[in-house]
Formats: sequence, C-alpha cells, structure tokens
Amino acid sequence: MTKELTLSIIKPDATRRNLTGAINARFEQSGLRIVAQKRVLLTRAEIEGFYAAHAERSFFDELCTFMTSGPVVIQVLEGEDAIVKNREIMGATNPANANPGTIRKDFAESIEANSVHGSDSPEAAAVEIAYFFSKTEIVG
Ligand code: ATP
Ligand code: MG
Repeated sequence: MTKELTLSIIKPDATRRNLTGAINARFEQSGLRIVAQKRVLLTRAEIEGFYAAHAERSFFDELCTFMTSGPVVIQVLEGEDAIVKNREIMGATNPANANPGTIRKDFAESIEANSVHGSDSPEAAAVEIAYFFSKTEIVG
C-alpha cells in the first residue's frame, strides 16, 4: 500500500445538477482526501489538450463540447492506492455497466455525461495533476 495522488474532475452534468457535495462525500467516505480543488469553466483549448490521447476517437469533438458546456470541479485526491481506489468508486465508463453503489451507476446520465473523470494510471495521474495544478496548490 502506498499513498498516491490522482486527478479527479466532476463533469458538467454533475455540477449542473448540484451534485458536487454528494460526489465529494463518496470520496471522503471511502478514505480519499481532497487535497486540491477548483471550480472552473474549461476552454476548448484546455480540454483538447487534456484529452489529447482521445483525439482520434469518433466522439472527441462531442466530448470536448460537453466538457466545456458548464463548470467542472477539478481536484486532486490523496490516499492509499488512490488511483485504483478512485476508479472503483467511479465505476465503469458506461453507467449501464457500472457496479451498484458507484458514482456513475448512481449519478451518470450517459456514457458521455458520466459525472466524473479519474486518472487511470500513475503516469497519467502525474501528467494530469501537473496539467491543472502547481505543487503549491496541493495541500495534503
Ligand atoms: P475518464 O477518462 O473520463 O475517467 P474513462 O477512463 O472511464 O473516463 P475513457 O475511455 O478514457 O473512459 O473515455 C473518456 C471519456 O470519453 C469518458 O469518460 C466519456 O465521458 C467519454 N466517452 C467514452 N466513450 C464514449 C463513447 N462511446 N461515446 C461518447 N463518449 C464517450
Ligand atoms: Mg480515461
């Protein structure tokens, strides 16, 4: 067990329905600590850069439009095995396939508007955290 940091984004479908607190409670109840957090309206350029790995996927344009359609809450979560643990708390990408009790099962509207993002590897977490936060903004 090692203490890790992971990047989380509460997506526009969730901020629109005022679910930020309900989702943060899931993280905290699972032992993850929110060590950085900001609510922002992403620009097209910011989200295209963030999702660069998905640039060739058929849904890329639509995904970037969705992610700039309203505020997002970008956060750094800290905890033991935080990367894998957060992916478990989030549930499968498609809410139809997500396990009961996960954020996406309980809150997601669709495979696209699926309420949360979470880093999927230590390498991705490091890149994604640095994309949005400076070291001094992360207070553990
Ligand atoms: P995230 O990276 O947001 O944590 P994920 O790792 O579960 O989600 P990815 O395959 O990385 O899923 O896809 C990134 C995001 O693209 C998804 O969270 C979802 O919002 C959107 N997405 C994925 N597949 C589709 C699809 N088939 N149609 C529309 N949007 C999709
Ligand atoms: Mg992903």
